[in-house]
Amino acid sequence: MKRVTILGSTGSIGTSTLSIIKKNSTLFKVVALVANKNISVMLKQCEIFTPDWVAMKNEKSANILRKKLKEKNIQTQVLSGDKEICALAALEQIEYVVSAIVGIAGLLPTLSAIYAGKIILLANKESLITCGNLFMKAVISHKAQIIPIDSEHNAIFQVLPKYFQKNLGKISLKKANVKSIILTASGGPLFNFKKRDLPFVKPSQIYSHPNWSMGKKILVDSATMINKGFEYAEARLLFNASDSEINIIIHPQSIIHSMVEYIDGSVLAQLSLPDMRVAISYAFSFPDRIPSGSSFLDFKKINNLSFFTPDFIKFPCLKLAIDAFIYGKSAMIVLNAANEVTVSAFLNSRISFNKIFEINNDILMSSNLLEPLSIEEVIDIDQKTRINTKKRILSLSS
Ligand code: NDP
Repeated sequence: MKRVTILGSTGSIGTSTLSIIKKNSTLFKVVALVANKNISVMLKQCEIFTPDWVAMKNEKSANILRKKLKEKNIQTQVLSGDKEICALAALEQIEYVVSAIVGIAGLLPTLSAIYAGKIILLANKESLITCGNLFMKAVISHKAQIIPIDSEHNAIFQVLPKYFQKNLGKISLKKANVKSIILTASGGPLFNFKKRDLPFVKPSQIYSHPNWSMGKKILVDSATMINKGFEYAEARLLFNASDSEINIIIHPQSIIHSMVEYIDGSVLAQLSLPDMRVAISYAFSFPDRIPSGSSFLDFKKINNLSFFTPDFIKFPCLKLAIDAFIYGKSAMIVLNAANEVTVSAFLNSRISFNKIFEINNDILMSSNLLEPLSIEEVIDIDQKTRINTKKRILSLSS
């Protein structure tokens, strides 16, 4: 039995993960669940999976949940707070940690799992791209294992040779005879919008992605396409790839989830319906496979797979994120922090859609970008950038 902690169990990735566990209940034991404040979903998850532990970031939510579990005579212990969340990611009795908290809030719990040498199913790309080499070095030195569940990286992982899969971050693509990685992108919910209409986009217009079901933050990141820039960074770090070894291509149908081109001209791709359960189930069962609950592709019904070059002018956040990663130092930490603040302001209708790029860009250009030498420095830069970005947003309305 594989024993698991799920960080972010009440979110989109968390609930998909639990549906796979339910379908394969003899293979998994849910030991601990972590969320922020969604009591109703967490209560249902406790009823179904009876974890030993739950931690809610929000203390009030933890207190209410504790009371409700007692009323239902469910024995799960409820904790609260950052330290407790980190402890659940490092429990001795677990082997697997699903890292699916949204944003930089996922950083310390993910690192805690790494320091404890766990197998980490990584959805929370923010922790990887902000810490960069510090993250990958920690994985290697603590003998942890990362299996990506971002669908593109999972697809790439699936078609790379076994020895590469088992040594992520350690060996070069050249050693695996790989010419390049082709990172596909759906184009996001605004792919067909005209550039002139983008400033007027409202949050409600991007709540449904054409292909994927996701949390609100990543929906906005998909709409600005900064998500693809973050995924570019994620691919460079996970697969030890250079800039020239990664090509981004728009593929609106989201059937091919990414490809690897080998030196002999062969291209290997992973295809499936756009359903995160395919990636998550592979990560859980690697190197084997288990049923995911996804429907199957019907090739007779697929009459078009199309591909386009990304439009960096219409989606400047994509270029901004790629340039930030290439610049290095603390650029990704600053960009990620600014972006979390601007996305939240957009979702609360405090800034317009085009201001996400403008403010992210301003904050990045005006920051003193130094190389972080420790995780503490990463967190410090993140927090200072958040304060600056909030001030910038406030100054717009005064
Ligand atoms: P959601 O917004 O749907 O879920 C976020 C989860 O994180 C919820 O369980 C939430 O709890 C929890 N959470 C938020 N803040 C905290 C905190 N401070 N402490 C503890 N838990 C917290 O996000 P998604 O599932 O869409 O995305 C999660 C991660 O996976 C992101 O990093 C995203 O980029 C990545 N990802 C997502 C994909 C997708 O298809 N959704 C695809 C690839 C990657 P609560 O519900 O209580 O607020």
